[in-house]
Amino acid sequence: MQLDKSELIPHIKKTGGGHWLWRTGNKFAVIKRQGVQMSMRRAVWITFRGPISGNLQLSTKCGVKFCLNPKHLQLLPQGTANMLTHCLRGHRRSGANIYYNKGIAYCRACHLYHQLRYLRRTGRIR
Ligand SMILES: [Zn+2]
Ligand SMILES: [Zn+2]
Repeated sequence: MQLDKSELIPHIKKTGGGHWLWRTGNKFAVIKRQGVQMSMRRAVWITFRGPISGNLQLSTKCGVKFCLNPKHLQLLPQGTANMLTHCLRGHRRSGANIYYNKGIAYCRACHLYHQLRYLRRTGRIR
């Protein structure tokens, strides 16, 4: 659901590091509108950055678990959002190992792994 920025901002407490925290202290903040429930994090992203397609999840990249700053959030493929520091296969989620495609953060090492598997499967390399 898209909200007006002026509806969200009074609820957000900005901290020294540029993090946005939900003022009420409800850490996993949820908002309801017209019977629809949504996490604050998603609502903030949609309001400031735009729609999220179904199979993507939001995750913080600043290390503050409950941060809502859209600049500190990133979209991740579903099922990987809990892996803040390492991906499914244990690669580091940082620096040069992260690449962005349409704003979505992917693990480069996994991408290479999948490419290699594909090439092997299709007989292009052994
Ligand atoms: Zn933050
Ligand atoms: Zn990986």
